[in-house]
Amino acid sequence: MNRRDCLKVAGAAAVLSPGAFAMPSQSSLEVCTVRAGLKRLALRHTWTTTMSSSEYRDTVQVEYRRGGISGYGEGAPIVRYKEFPAAAAQAIAAIANEVETGDPWKYRKLLARAKQSLGEGQHAAMAAVDIAVFDWLGKKLDLPLYRLFGLDPADAPVTDFSIGIDTPEITRQKTREAEDFPILKVKVGLKSDEETIAAVRSVTNKPIRVDANEGWTDKEEAIRKINWLESQGVEYVEQPMPAHMLEETRYVRGKVHLPIFADEACTDLTMIPKLTEAYDGINVKLDKAGGILESIRWIEAARAMKMKVMLGCMVSSSCSITAAAHLSPLVDYADLDGNLLVANDPWRGVRVEKGRLLLPSGSGLGLMIAS
Ligand code: MG
Repeated sequence: MNRRDCLKVAGAAAVLSPGAFAMPSQSSLEVCTVRAGLKRLALRHTWTTTMSSSEYRDTVQVEYRRGGISGYGEGAPIVRYKEFPAAAAQAIAAIANEVETGDPWKYRKLLARAKQSLGEGQHAAMAAVDIAVFDWLGKKLDLPLYRLFGLDPADAPVTDFSIGIDTPEITRQKTREAEDFPILKVKVGLKSDEETIAAVRSVTNKPIRVDANEGWTDKEEAIRKINWLESQGVEYVEQPMPAHMLEETRYVRGKVHLPIFADEACTDLTMIPKLTEAYDGINVKLDKAGGILESIRWIEAARAMKMKVMLGCMVSSSCSITAAAHLSPLVDYADLDGNLLVANDPWRGVRVEKGRLLLPSGSGLGLMIAS
């Protein structure tokens, strides 16, 4: 095994921090190294949705180093789609040589080949590679990514702050802790929904959005809950029913006023036209779409279908969240708070001030290692 192979295997197996990516300086433009590893992110609060409950999350971190410049990327594999961190890191290590020998200035070809080689079901791995390549391009051109994409950072929407499912007492505490955010996103989808919303409302009257994460399986229940939520100052409802229940969701949408967004129901660009039958908008996530390039395609496809677009995220470090924030001037709503749930974020990037996303002006993602 040569040194490079050793690094790849070590990278895939170890839990890495940004400092662990430090490499000797490389003078030749031709020298390129791709490394993937896992980062364990400790959560500030136990995070509960209808799908899972956890104290930490592992994400895949990628370093794309070429000509002495390092681009960084991150992907958060989504268990709902049967993606897992260790497998994602291994999948990247397996295609590292192909990415290393590709031309980053022909990034569409490079990324298309990477996607094909990663195969089905590696969207988070693809996102990590894609973000790292774009970070490198931005650094090489000395431009922040929003500028590379022709976007105005002043158009970045306000992000909401998410409140996971918990006891009424903890829900009230989390709501109080989120006082700087003008909008909240509340996870629902269980029998305790009314109790959860009442707990939030006992603390604040600010607008809220809800995400049922496919939790309501009966359409009459969904209609009753959505109409009640409208009376509680809710702006829109995300994924009220299971993704496969398109016909039932279409029926529900005809009986309610609140806009309905597809998250779990939208996992591929080609689904978007069909989703217009039952949904008013889609939730785009880099981890789900497979990175920046594909997310832009989703956003533009949804726009072409006259749908609203929200930009969401998984629990991630500031690497992935900052990448999404650079695209946020393209969307109507932002739900980019996944880094704020993390106690040991290795990066500093996008900042949030009273809910407003403040994009870093440094080149590429504009990330700094957290001190
Ligand atoms: Mg969601």
